Amino acid sequence: MTLRNYIYGIWLGLVLSFSVAADWYREEAPVMGTLITVELWHEDAERGKALAAAVLDEMHRIDRLMSTYKPDSELSRVNDQAAREPVIVSRELLGLVMRALSFSEVTGGAFDITYASAGKYYNYRESVRPTTAQLEQALPAIDYRHVKLDTVNSTIAFDHPGVRIDLGGIAKGYAVDRSIEILRKAGVLNALVSAGGDTRVIGERWGRAWKVGIRDPRNRDGVVTMIPLMDLAISTSGDYERFFEEDGVRYHHILNPSTGQSTSAVHSASIIGSNATTTDALSTSIFVMGVTNGLQLINSLTDTEAVIIDNQGRMHYSAGLDQAH
Ligand code: ADP
Ligand code: MG
Repeated sequence: MTLRNYIYGIWLGLVLSFSVAADWYREEAPVMGTLITVELWHEDAERGKALAAAVLDEMHRIDRLMSTYKPDSELSRVNDQAAREPVIVSRELLGLVMRALSFSEVTGGAFDITYASAGKYYNYRESVRPTTAQLEQALPAIDYRHVKLDTVNSTIAFDHPGVRIDLGGIAKGYAVDRSIEILRKAGVLNALVSAGGDTRVIGERWGRAWKVGIRDPRNRDGVVTMIPLMDLAISTSGDYERFFEEDGVRYHHILNPSTGQSTSAVHSASIIGSNATTTDALSTSIFVMGVTNGLQLINSLTDTEAVIIDNQGRMHYSAGLDQAH
C-alpha cells in the first residue's frame, strides 16, 4: 500500500464515520401532562442521544419541583403552608414565581397564578366544576397581590386564607427555556424543544427555518398557518386542550381571574417571542384579555408578536406580522 493510498484510506474512514454519526436525534415522552419533543442535530451519536435524554431529565426535574399533582413537590408544600407562615423555597421556584407576578403586573391581572384558588375545584377529565358557593368563597383569594415574596430569606407567604398557586401557565415554557440552555451550553447549533403548546428552536433545520403549525381550534387534524422560526419561541393557548361541555357551554382550563370561570372571547392565542417563559405566560394572558386588549399589549412590547383566533374563527395579527402579510 502506498503512503498516498494509506492517507486516502484514513481520510475516507473519517468522512464515513462522520457522515454516519452526524444526524438528527429525537426523543419524545409524556411529562407534565403533555408530550415533550426534543429534536437536535449532533455530529456524535452518543452525545446526541445523551443530550436528548438530558432534556427529558430536566423536564422531569422541573415537574417534580413544580407540579401541583405531586403532593410532595416544593410547590405543593407552599400551597399547604404559606397561608400560615412563610415557606422557605429554592431560589429557582422563588425566581419563577417572581416572574409570574411580574406578568400579572404587565397584563393588568389577566395572568394570575392564584387563579388556582378557584381552579382547584375543576376536574376537566371528570367534568367537575365549582359550585356557586365554592366559587363565591374562592373569588376573594384570587389576587396575585396575596403572594408575598421575601427575596432575602427566599420565602413565599400568602396573606389571605384559601390562596392556591399553580404555575401551569408558565412552567412548561420555563422548562423549554432551561432545556434550550442545556443544549446551547453543549454547543448544539440546531434544535427544537417542545412541551405541548410551548416550543423554542435553536438555528434551523436542513438549512431552512423551523416551521411550527398553529392548529385549527375546531379541527383536531387541521393547521391554519405555519410560522417559520429561527432562534425564537412560540406558545399557543387554546380552549381545545383540556375542557368538557355541559348544556352547550365549554368549560376549559384557562380562567378569568376576576370571575374564576373560563373565558370565551377567543379560541386560541399564539405568541412569538425570544423565550418560551415569556411566550407561555403571554399566550395564557392574551387568551384571557381577548383580541383588542391583547393586541394592544403585544403591540406595545418589542420583539413579541401574536396570532389570535377569535370565537368566530377569524384570525387577528399583531402589527409586526400584519406588515409581513
Ligand atoms: P397549556 O397548559 O394547554 O399549554 P396554557 O399555557 O395556556 O395552556 O396554560 C393553561 C394553564 O395555565 C392552565 O392549565 C392553568 O394551569 C393555568 N392558568 C389558567 N388560567 C390562568 C390565568 N388566568 N393565569 C395564569 N395561569 C392560568
Ligand atoms: Mg401559557
